[in-house]
Amino acid sequence: MALAICARRKANLLYRNLPLSSSESFNYSFSFASFSRRFASSGFDDNDVVVIGGGPGGYVAAIKAAQLGLKTTCIEKRGALGGTCLNVGCIPSKALLHSSHMYHEAQHSFASHGVKFSSLEVDLPAMMAQKDKAVSNLTRGIEGLFKKNKVNYVKGYGKLISPSEVSVDTIDGGNTVVKGKNIIIATGSDVKSLPGITIDEKRIVSSTGALALSEIPKKLVVIGAGYIGLEMGSVWGRLGSEITVVEFAPDIVPTMDGEVRKQFQRSLEKQGMKFMLRTKVVGVDTSGNGVKLTLEPAAGGEQTTLEADVVLVSAGRTPFTAGLGLDKLGIETDKAGRILVNERFATNVDCVYAIGDVIPGPMLAHKAEEDGVACVEFLAGKTGHVDYDKVPGVVYTHPEVASVGKTEEQVKESGVDYRVGKFPFLANSRAKAIDDAEGVVKILAEKETDKILGVHIMAPNAGELIHEAVLALQYDAASEDIARVCHAHPTMSEALKEAAMATYDKPIHI
Ligand SMILES: Cc1cc2nc3c(=O)[nH]c(=O)nc-3n(C[C@H](O)[C@H](O)[C@H](O)COP(=O)(O)OP(=O)(O)OC[C@H]3O[C@@H](n4cnc5c(N)ncnc54)[C@H](O)[C@@H]3O)c2cc1C
Repeated sequence: MALAICARRKANLLYRNLPLSSSESFNYSFSFASFSRRFASSGFDDNDVVVIGGGPGGYVAAIKAAQLGLKTTCIEKRGALGGTCLNVGCIPSKALLHSSHMYHEAQHSFASHGVKFSSLEVDLPAMMAQKDKAVSNLTRGIEGLFKKNKVNYVKGYGKLISPSEVSVDTIDGGNTVVKGKNIIIATGSDVKSLPGITIDEKRIVSSTGALALSEIPKKLVVIGAGYIGLEMGSVWGRLGSEITVVEFAPDIVPTMDGEVRKQFQRSLEKQGMKFMLRTKVVGVDTSGNGVKLTLEPAAGGEQTTLEADVVLVSAGRTPFTAGLGLDKLGIETDKAGRILVNERFATNVDCVYAIGDVIPGPMLAHKAEEDGVACVEFLAGKTGHVDYDKVPGVVYTHPEVASVGKTEEQVKESGVDYRVGKFPFLANSRAKAIDDAEGVVKILAEKETDKILGVHIMAPNAGELIHEAVLALQYDAASEDIARVCHAHPTMSEALKEAAMATYDKPIHI
């Protein structure tokens, strides 16, 4: 345990709150005096906080602000709360991933578990209806939370007309001006297309269209091997589509640890997904029944064609600030259109803040939520904190891949001496018991102190398993700390303990 204690001591010394946009520095003069003056005007009947956007960043910020005693209004244009995440992102995709996984299991795994049935078919409208029910229940639930917490909800398109006023074109055709002492921009992101490709949401779809196809395409081409493309490819692949993923980069999911990524790609290939890496789409022909893509090696060379019934363009997301009035107020953005903020989420314009996908950082719902909480904590005179280095990332395929902290490539680049501990799920009793043992846990720890630097898990439920590692990183734990925690048996979590043992010593079960 000495090593663990030593790591903790060192870690405490090193502990710091990373600036949010450490790569971007701009002149910012946050004035606590002007901030508190705005709150000092009691009797002033305006909002303390106006949030534009009701996604995970905006609605969480609004609820938290109200819980902190701030009078809060949230403006949302789509007529439903929950943003991209609940309406056309995390939730519908996970609903379809689960439904399609059940079908796939029934087709390929039930028999070996002794469960037999005489016929099996996909009822796509029923599958979509289950997804839609999950979405509407959850979005309505947030409206309920707004009522419970007394957040005022305005349905309409918000436009900044001054640092304290938002003009809203309401969805019922009216207009109103919402005033607030502080404004939080939480307008999120939108799908990004590629030059020369027009998304029609029928044959050439974005993730939104891919979540609502009315039939199972025979051939689906996914442009972009990021997590959204691979998740949607998995859904339709399990339901019977032939999936080809075209990716410009040499690798799938570029942010993933290289070794885990290789295993992950092999696993997806075993499931029937085909990959064309280092390949670019240079032409799209929709004149026939399907779509004909012209492809070229990324480095240039001979062109080939690829036909599909449906093409999913999954080439990333772009911050959404259209019609928001950023220019009028002189709010600074970077080249990618993201609003620049300091560590308090403040823009360069006094009392205007921004959070979530519309600012730099991982474009993830849980990161947007953390931004929202921290931002309003600052507004309420408390100290908020989000460490972007400790935001977990999960790809919800089967197996899932989850990670937190640094990849081996990043650790190498940092020049720190490190150790690697690995444990395969093939040696984990629970995974063997349920016959779902594909995957590995990989831990990277600093050699000198044993402090954990990164954890990468590929496993059926990696998205749940990762949180023990996130907590460990948050507390600057050593791998020995995880290894000495008693883990229930038989659980998949034991693989994390064994990988931790493998990092500083030896695992037991392999
Ligand atoms: C298919 C898909 C799957 C995903 N899966 C995951 C996942 O599994 N896990 C994960 O963490 N993330 C996932 N994401 C990403 C996640 O959805 C986003 O990171 C998250 O929604 C960002 O939250 P946000 O509040 O910043 O923005 P958003 O969720 O985009 O919300 C912004 C809201 O602001 C509203 N708005 C914009 N402009 C205005 C305006 N001027 N006036 C009023 N309202 C306005 C929009 O209508 C929108 O509802 C997924 C995304 C997609 C597309």
